[in-house]
Amino acid sequence: MIKTEKILHLKSYRGRRVRVVREHYLRERVPCFSSLCQAACANDGKVLPGDLTHYVVPGVEVVVNFLEILEFRELQGVIFTQTACQALQSKGRRCYSRLRNLVKDPRHDCVLFANEFQEHSYRPREKGESHEQWQTRCVYEAAVWYYNHLAGMMSIVMVTEDEDVVSRFSNLNSGVFVVTFKDYLQNFWPDLQAAHELYGSISQALQEKESEDTQKEFCEHLPTEVLAAGIKSGRYIQGILNVSKHRAQNEAFVANDDISNKNSDLIGGVLVYGVRNRNRAVHGDSVVLELLPRSEWRGKVTALTEGPVDERTGGDSESKPMPTGRVVGVLQRNWRDYVVTFPPREGTQSRNSQRILVIPWDRRIPKIRISTQQADVLQDHRVVVRIDSWESTSLYPSGHSVRVLGRAGELETEVQTILIENCIHVPPFSEAQLREMPSTSATKPWTVDPVQVSKRRDLRETHLVFSIDPRGCEDVDDTLSVRRLPGGSLLELGVHIADVTHFVSEGSLTDLEARSRATTYYLADRRYDMLPAVLSADLCSLLGGVDRYAMSVLWELDVQTMAVAKVWFGRTLIRSSYQLHYELAQALLNGEEAEVPELAQLASEERDGKLAELVEALETLTHVARHLRAQRDCGGALELEGVEVRAQLDEKRNITALVPRQPLEVHETVAECMIYANHWVARKIQEVFPYQALLRRHPPPRQELFGQLVDTAQARGFSIDTSTNKALADSLNRAVDPRDPLVNRLLRMMATQAMSQAVYFSTGSEPEDQFFHYGLALDRYTHFTSPIRRYADMVVHRLLTAALATEQGAEPVEAPAGNKEMEELAEHINNKNRAAQRAQNLSIGLFQCLFFKERDPETDPRCVAGAVIYSIRDNGVLVFVPEYGVKGPVYLKNKEGQVVSVGPDGTCEWQSGSVQRHSDHIRTTSACGSATFRLFDHITVRVSVLSSSCHSDTLNMEVISNKPHRSSSTPQQVSSQGRNQLVQEVVRLAEEAQKETRKPKLSREEREFRQSKTPNLYSLLEEIRELSLLDPETEPRPPEGTQVDT
Ligand SMILES: [Zn+2]
Repeated sequence: MIKTEKILHLKSYRGRRVRVVREHYLRERVPCFSSLCQAACANDGKVLPGDLTHYVVPGVEVVVNFLEILEFRELQGVIFTQTACQALQSKGRRCYSRLRNLVKDPRHDCVLFANEFQEHSYRPREKGESHEQWQTRCVYEAAVWYYNHLAGMMSIVMVTEDEDVVSRFSNLNSGVFVVTFKDYLQNFWPDLQAAHELYGSISQALQEKESEDTQKEFCEHLPTEVLAAGIKSGRYIQGILNVSKHRAQNEAFVANDDISNKNSDLIGGVLVYGVRNRNRAVHGDSVVLELLPRSEWRGKVTALTEGPVDERTGGDSESKPMPTGRVVGVLQRNWRDYVVTFPPREGTQSRNSQRILVIPWDRRIPKIRISTQQADVLQDHRVVVRIDSWESTSLYPSGHSVRVLGRAGELETEVQTILIENCIHVPPFSEAQLREMPSTSATKPWTVDPVQVSKRRDLRETHLVFSIDPRGCEDVDDTLSVRRLPGGSLLELGVHIADVTHFVSEGSLTDLEARSRATTYYLADRRYDMLPAVLSADLCSLLGGVDRYAMSVLWELDVQTMAVAKVWFGRTLIRSSYQLHYELAQALLNGEEAEVPELAQLASEERDGKLAELVEALETLTHVARHLRAQRDCGGALELEGVEVRAQLDEKRNITALVPRQPLEVHETVAECMIYANHWVARKIQEVFPYQALLRRHPPPRQELFGQLVDTAQARGFSIDTSTNKALADSLNRAVDPRDPLVNRLLRMMATQAMSQAVYFSTGSEPEDQFFHYGLALDRYTHFTSPIRRYADMVVHRLLTAALATEQGAEPVEAPAGNKEMEELAEHINNKNRAAQRAQNLSIGLFQCLFFKERDPETDPRCVAGAVIYSIRDNGVLVFVPEYGVKGPVYLKNKEGQVVSVGPDGTCEWQSGSVQRHSDHIRTTSACGSATFRLFDHITVRVSVLSSSCHSDTLNMEVISNKPHRSSSTPQQVSSQGRNQLVQEVVRLAEEAQKETRKPKLSREEREFRQSKTPNLYSLLEEIRELSLLDPETEPRPPEGTQVDT
């Protein structure tokens, strides 16, 4: 090792340059991370493959300015130098951690070379040499080092932004090429259109940045130390800025979660009013606030407002003044990719090469200034942009475009928009990921490994295993068994779950992809799988008649009391005998004539014997599940609003009908067994790993959120007791109006709304009394039974495996992760689940709008529907339209001050007048008399679409009669048919439109986003139904866009 000195020029935050001399140690051995290494470097972890045409070494300015392009997974053999990495570090923590993640992520083919520690590649800075020149020389020497180190077997390309560098270095060394980044992309990646576009847009943004204005529009943010000291002393408040969706211009809030409780005024959060006080903070940023004097506090607006509201109108009623503050600094930007639209062109002027204010799809995000030469071409398109900076001299943040999604309003563009806005990234599985999968084909099917047979408990001959799923189900991740044990006093119940983690080892590429997705995503017309199909639909699917690996839980239960005598967990080998669907299982239980396909070929005597055996198993299972359910009911398990429709499929998986959900007992039986397995696995992993087990808790709801539920029920004469979950469950069961089933349904819906979300957590991060699952009334719970489509279940499988190994072995086995890591993972999965739910709701909303957009609300009878009032507001009511599953506001007073007046036959029209709001009703008074709208009144509304080119469309509902909509069919039937027709029709229209127009330019890229496109509601509905059974609180909420803020 050689000791030398290194001179650093550091910049203090005030901009002063500081010269620092550091001791610097050089080594002969610094890993090269190349598989071509001839020198036996200590290349732990990721290495660059040897079968590439070249490695690429980006110069400092390329890494600093174009890291986004280097993040493309298509680029291979990228070597980041320590020199470039340090330069990036000085640009900020965010950039630096992006590079670090990139280097860590095995899905990206890039490595970090510590060139400044390598004695043969390090060059000290020379006298008279600028810092930039020195950096360039360092990177170049690193490139030369690689060429020599790999004995000339690999060409090295250094990319730079500086033409002078190209001419100076490109002829020095035969194996090392020096080219500009632009030339590099054009010559080596001519088809990577997205990278070219991004390059153009970033370099343009960089050019424009040099000519910034100097006039200050905002106060400077305070330095970090001042902010930290202010927070510590209680002078400042820290929190996440949350911009109001309906009044994005003026209202933003900082929630109370992060606010210290020193000041009890702040419990309800702090209002940040107006753009000036927001001081360049963007929705989601972590900010620091200073409170304004009390005299300047304001209230929030409480009236219903339409989406694109005119913000200047005053006179809206406000709540009482609340703590109000202004942003003095930003601790952490939380910028993501934003989907934007270009503003309409004004006049005939061409806008080529101009700076343009684009409008984000998300109303909470400010307009963004970008430079582009394509403004005219991209008119009416949706484009992804990133924000680069927001200087105090600019009214708007500056950014650059990343890629074009397509024409606004088209189905594919809108679906991509939903994915990007929720940070959902679901590229097709890469070849490298698929190479990790076991091979199976029609000619050479996968078979069980004899080694596994010897290690696993073999249940193939001893247990009657079967699955009960929705008709047409392909991915069977759970199966059941039940039998009487010899002696007659014990029963054995078994739950056998697909052994996904046998095939997906921790840290593999497939595992990382599954982890980053965290869940399968279900949109209204398609789904994006968490795992490759070879696993989810084949090797991990517990199909009938084939050998499969499973993770099993087997309980020995007392026949009389169902007390658990013994429980066994472990890896097994199973062969499912019957793949039943719910209706068939229920028919067998009911003693009805039913054909079991697996028995069809057998002789009658054998068939009768087997059938009797199966029916007995189903009956025993039902008996056990009733007991288990009864146990939980005593604890107060809740049944909330479930989904009421089911899709019925033919062999080709087409929907033949959507039927109202039959409350089949067998649904609950299966669900109960799964809940039981999840509960027992939770107990096991928490016992062995008390501080790092992944569990799922459901916090009790906050009582104040029940206010609306209690008041609404009161209006109908029901009292809802929310003191405990048991009391709530009981009182909801009693709140039934025999004349109007919708009353109970709406109350359950409201209860669901008031609920907290269940979340995953690491047991080391919460006190034990917080582990409780309120909805299921269990002290411990986790997810174990769906590893094919939830990453949490895969983590739990690994925890269980480690727990069993710990118990069996003399040595304790390490848990898969420590508490901190597990808590971070839990947080990640929770975030992805919320994103998945938002995306699902948005896609349902999208389909609703596309459906109604095609029809004329004045003439088409399908635009008229029945609605029920479930909430009273200052200037209108909130209604639920069961036929389409839509919720939203109905205004009784418009902006012109007119109110809805009702004629003798119930028809409504606008008249000048006034409204009076009461707790359970609202009255309009006009020259024609007065009209009253009460809670739970059935009225008739007309549904139309409020179009918006920049944001999502929204549904608009207008009351046309205060009488119920005349409709012959039952609400449930209408509901199912309405939704089904809606999705199918929209898909059909979109496909027709696709055929008519020539292929759009970006079709390849668009296709890449789609993994499976099933134009039916099947998956969606089944998923929702299953989730709502297994875990009531995951019931999908109505699309956020239709919610009125309260
Ligand atoms: Zn080496």
